[in-house]
Amino acid sequence: MSRFDDLREQMVNYQLAARGLHDQSVLDAVNAVPREEFVPADLVEFAYSDSPLPIAASQTISQPYIVALMTAALELKPADRVLEVGTGSGYAAAVLAEIAEKVYTIERHKILADTARSRLAALGYRNIQVLHGDGTLGWPEHAPFDAIIVAAGGPQVPENLKQQLSVGGRLVIPVGSTLRTQKLLRVRRTGEHEFQEEDLGGVRFVPLIGAAGWEDETAGARAVEKTEASLPELIYQSSEHFARIDDANLDNLLERIGDSRLVLLGEASHGTAEFYEMRARITRELIEKKGFNIIAVEADWPDASHINHYIHGTAPDPLLESTPFSRFPTWMWANHSVLEFTHWLKAYNDKVSSPEKQAGFYGLDLYSLYGSIEVVLNYLEKVDPETAEVARVRYGCLMPWANDPAMYSQAVITRQYKECESDVVATLQDMLNRRMDYSRADGEKFFNAEQNARLVTSAERYYRTMYYAENNSWNLRDQHMFETLQSILAYRGAHSKAVIWEHNSHIGDARATEMSARGEFNIGQLVRQQYADMAYSIGFGTDHGTVAAASEWGGPMEVKQVQPSHIDSYEHVCHEVHADNFLLPLRKPIKEITHRELLAERLERAIGVIYRPETELQSHYFYASLPRQFDEYIWFDETRAVEPLGKQTIKGIPDTFPFGL
Ligand code: SAM
Repeated sequence: MSRFDDLREQMVNYQLAARGLHDQSVLDAVNAVPREEFVPADLVEFAYSDSPLPIAASQTISQPYIVALMTAALELKPADRVLEVGTGSGYAAAVLAEIAEKVYTIERHKILADTARSRLAALGYRNIQVLHGDGTLGWPEHAPFDAIIVAAGGPQVPENLKQQLSVGGRLVIPVGSTLRTQKLLRVRRTGEHEFQEEDLGGVRFVPLIGAAGWEDETAGARAVEKTEASLPELIYQSSEHFARIDDANLDNLLERIGDSRLVLLGEASHGTAEFYEMRARITRELIEKKGFNIIAVEADWPDASHINHYIHGTAPDPLLESTPFSRFPTWMWANHSVLEFTHWLKAYNDKVSSPEKQAGFYGLDLYSLYGSIEVVLNYLEKVDPETAEVARVRYGCLMPWANDPAMYSQAVITRQYKECESDVVATLQDMLNRRMDYSRADGEKFFNAEQNARLVTSAERYYRTMYYAENNSWNLRDQHMFETLQSILAYRGAHSKAVIWEHNSHIGDARATEMSARGEFNIGQLVRQQYADMAYSIGFGTDHGTVAAASEWGGPMEVKQVQPSHIDSYEHVCHEVHADNFLLPLRKPIKEITHRELLAERLERAIGVIYRPETELQSHYFYASLPRQFDEYIWFDETRAVEPLGKQTIKGIPDTFPFGL
């Protein structure tokens, strides 16, 4: 048995059968097709992963589960004749051909049709015929078909395809009113003029482009090219250019931000100096010219509170001490750009006498489970030793996982978590019950302890959820960040205004990205839903240069080369603009047409604390609609890595594992 035979068998068992697919003919068919022959050579190691993979012409080979699910929905019999629209790699055609007598498959991209034809012939499939053409018109010469499968999402069920079904025939097709999310429909022809339709659930396919599908995504842009200007030229005309961050004129940006109470600044990597420096520059202006007094960042509450103390003159500079920020990924906060900014914040606060106007620095994240427990216990020991004793016993249930919180998820198996869950909630409740007494003594200390106690309850739930529901834990984290932001705004009063610094994947509205199809939301979406136009969100992007990132979780920081951007990405379009750095307003566009041309979804790159250029497309790109994600986009064509302050990374599994983008 080869390595791939093993992987294929595991895929059939764990991705198909375990999800309730029990049609033996389909399981056997999937088990008979060597998927590794259908994926690009550099992605062979992912051939049996539970996801679609990119192929030529910016298309995808579908996720194995989806191929199996659609094949099962066709209810194929050995004598059936099948039409497939969207040959792609030819993989699904091969699966269909393992069951049915004859498969006709149509692909609109010639390169894909040609490659699939020769690949299928080389693998010995004699019962598949490949046509280059528009599949929404069907293949009348070979109609009627017992089954028709459409592997791309269209706005409606094409009439031609319905008419080419035999009576009793089944048509399975993704249909949706937007380009990239659809529901899977099964249309059954029950009579000459009768059809029955069933909804088989939500799916996400590349668009069906053709006479009865969507218009060619690039057709609009090409028309503009002929009559007016190319998209990069339009962006050039619609943006404000600058040479250096220090000299950039931000007056127009401040005007666009207007009276917003919240400004969200997102970065496309966690290790790019220009993103940190521009965020600092904008934040300084917001503090000085618009009275912003909160900087809320993607860091843990206790870590950020060290900086908060420093900028209020109540503690030494934590970035120059040995703690905090000694945990992976150290460079995210312990870097020269942040150091310079915190020094500026301290100097600013020194000048401002009113505490209300002073800037505060707060952490929104939830990874400091044990650090936060320590803060709560230290606080209670000082203000209420008896409650501290009870809290210590209650938090004790989390201690077995102190060295590796990610392992706490295993408590789910023994159901031990039931106790911990109620214990951490009870501790928070005790504190809230005594809020009046505690905060009378010192409101700020109480607020700090309360946020840490809240963090412990969220983190307990987060690590527990990691075990069984990945997207739930993502949502839990962003929900926690949003609630923490709300608490800070309430604490700082009705006139408070906040700048939020996080990764683009948290800041850009999740509804405009493929995250939403996975049921994920983010703080950017929650803020927009709550504050509408009173929140202004800005994304940052780059094409090439260097970035600070690790190769694996807990690994040392490396300065890595950022690959030039993918040809189908927003980054590539921006790279083609004849300006190195620019601000591109999207909410109030300088030219409407630019906004419109940018709307259709493209790839977007996200580099986190890990960067894997070898598998960049698979690991770091996702689909999004930029103008729906952000109110403004800031571009730096070439960027450089942040400079760390030179501390050592602590080895081992980090607290952020495995979701610390
Ligand atoms: N079944 C494919 C496989 O196993 O690799 C996956 C197909 S991919 C998800 C969808 C394919 O549909 C793309 O290759 C795309 O070019 C093609 N497509 C989109 N509109 C089409 C049309 N009107 N006619 C034919 N092919 C079309």
